[in-house]
Amino acid sequence: MSKLSSRHSILIYLLLAGFYLPGTSAGVDLPFVDSHVHFNWDQKEITEASDVVAKLRRGGVVFAVVSSTPSELALELQRAGPDIVLPIFSPYTHQLGRRDWYLNDSTLRRAEAGLRQGLYHGIGEVHFMAGFRPRPDNQIFEQLLQLAARYDVPVLIHIDAANEQMFLSICRRYPDLKLIFAHAGGNLYPRHIRKLIAGCSNVTVEISARDPWRFDGLTDDDGRLLEGWRELVIEFPGRFMTGTDPVWKVTRTQTWDQSDEGWDYFEQLIDYHRRWIDDLPPAVQQQISHENARRLFGWPRGRE
Ligand SMILES: [Zn+2]
Repeated sequence: MSKLSSRHSILIYLLLAGFYLPGTSAGVDLPFVDSHVHFNWDQKEITEASDVVAKLRRGGVVFAVVSSTPSELALELQRAGPDIVLPIFSPYTHQLGRRDWYLNDSTLRRAEAGLRQGLYHGIGEVHFMAGFRPRPDNQIFEQLLQLAARYDVPVLIHIDAANEQMFLSICRRYPDLKLIFAHAGGNLYPRHIRKLIAGCSNVTVEISARDPWRFDGLTDDDGRLLEGWRELVIEFPGRFMTGTDPVWKVTRTQTWDQSDEGWDYFEQLIDYHRRWIDDLPPAVQQQISHENARRLFGWPRGRE
């Protein structure tokens, strides 16, 4: 074998072995649906819509499910990347909307108008924090769920509770509604999520924001899923999806006078999720990385 061809064979070997491909170690070729993204007013102050879209494209994102405060910002982001941004309706329609969305029915009128026009493809994120208002039996929230059922769109719900009961009470009341349980792995352990999965076939579990820089609890030091999570995900691969949730204010005193630099960390976050997905059996990787979210949101809608 000549010197040249032996060098070639070494190179081909290295390529086949997965070396010499910077950036592909965590399976960057795998299509990825980012099922939990925000483009809020305090993020827009320092990150342009076009920059967000460029980051999504570089990250190999098929589409991103975007919830914004105020909700119109998700539409603005979509204008910057119509083929990659899927807006959902946030009931937080103004900067401090998280404090009063549940008090009057203007939220419902806006939601209805946006869904009727086909601007939004889901509802959320709606937060219920222990000890704070509103409660999950709030009437405006109930009517939002009914709207979602009528338009057959998923609802993304974030509940901070000590167990799965509160979420179970919602998904059992609306067995035909597509519900997303946000941020599994925080307060709740795999045994709780197992009960949720068993109790409601209409729930998809989403694992954003459980990275080591914020809430943690999902992976070991090597970035692999902890055993309980791994077992659950492999047992029910059709019930999980994930996302980056690039909001950084959760890590420091909540302030309303500072911008949120979460999008600066997007690459780090998507790499983290790709890494734990990469450690799963190939068929499970495909489901969690993109197939489940595509099915839930009815993508591609003729975009690909
Ligand atoms: Zn969120």
